Parts: sequence; structure tokens; C-alpha cells
Amino acid sequence: MRILLVEDERELAASLRTGLEAEGYAVDVAHDGRDGWTMAQLYRYQLFVLDLMLPGRNGYQLCELLRRAGRTEPVLVLTAKDGEYDEAEALDTGADDYLTKPFSYVVLLARIRALLRRRPGPAPAHLRVGDLVIDLARRRCRRGNTEITLTAKQFAVLVSLARRPGEVVGKTEIIEEVWDMAFDGDINIIEVYVSALRRRVDLPFGRRSIETVRGAGYRLVDGRE
Ligand code: CA
Repeated sequence: MRILLVEDERELAASLRTGLEAEGYAVDVAHDGRDGWTMAQLYRYQLFVLDLMLPGRNGYQLCELLRRAGRTEPVLVLTAKDGEYDEAEALDTGADDYLTKPFSYVVLLARIRALLRRRPGPAPAHLRVGDLVIDLARRRCRRGNTEITLTAKQFAVLVSLARRPGEVVGKTEIIEEVWDMAFDGDINIIEVYVSALRRRVDLPFGRRSIETVRGAGYRLVDGRE
């Protein structure tokens, strides 16, 4: 899950980014509306978090641009408590939800999860591939009745495969969904994550559910012989 955060208060932006990344989201940050709009056009995001008062283009304008461009991804607007704009206006421009500053980080996370669940298209609370069950809300994973412990990144890689069971997902696609644009490493890092995942979701259960498709990527299947 990749999020674009447009926030000109750099400290707030940095701390939100750190927190969201710890939850396994990939986060790109823009510090003004113009950069935000450029990034929104260049990359695929599953959610936008827009501060309202921004240099360049404000959050309203950004949100309107996104909607006019046919972008349907959820938009969460951050407003200042004593701001001159009112939240109703934010929702008028096509935002899905708003939060008044200062907000609690826990509430922000809950809102983001709720927005991602109700986004258009299939966005179930659970993903199932065979007896592998991924609980997106609680960020847990189990095979049958056995709980599997994963790091935030491992979980995110697994989710990106499990969203398209039986389909080949390319390494670049996984990188785009799980890492942010600051990623400048070797995309073969994915191999490291996939082997770690196999040791957790396959090996102890005698499965081969994460298939390597040479030159193309990976495919998550039931994996029962
Ligand atoms: Ca601001």
C-alpha cells in the first residue's frame, strides 16, 4: 500500500512518514501542492493524505484536480483547528474524510485503514489463498489455525501477492506497492523477502505457495500438492 502525504510542516510530515512506514505502508512525501500534484501523476497511490493549507496548491485544489483527473483513490484531508476553511468544504471537493489537527496518531491510522477498506473495487477485510488467511485490519496472517509472525515489510510483500492470487506479480510492481520512491536499491531485494516469506508461510507447512516465474515475478497459489 503506497500513500502520498502532502504536508508542508516538515517535522509533522517526517514523523507521520516514520509512523506509517512502521505499519508497513510505503509513504512518499511532498512539501507543497505543486510537487504533490506532480507525484500524484507520476506514481500509483492507494491513498492520499493532504494537508489543507499548503504552498503552491492547497489541499482543496489538489483534491479537485485528482477527482477531475478521474482518480478515485481515497483522500484524507488534514485541517487546522482554527483554520479559516471548514471541513464541510473539504468533503465538497471530493475528500473522503478529514482530521482536525492536532490529531492522535492512533486515530489517523484507524481512519486510513477504514478508507482503504472501503475503496472502490474488491477491498475485503481478509484475503484468502487456499488456507492462507491474511487479516488486513489486524495485520495478521495465519495458515489454517496456525498464526504466522511476519515483519511489516514481509506482510506488505505477501499482501501485494495475495491481492492477485494466481497472477504473476512483477518485482517492480511489488517495489512500487511496498517501498516508496526513495527506493534506490536493487529490486532483487524482493528475492530476500520472498525467501523469508517461504520460510514462514510455506516451509513449516510443507507447501509451495509462492512460485517463482522466471523473468516475470512471483505468483501466490494454494500450494497444496
Ligand atoms: Ca499546512
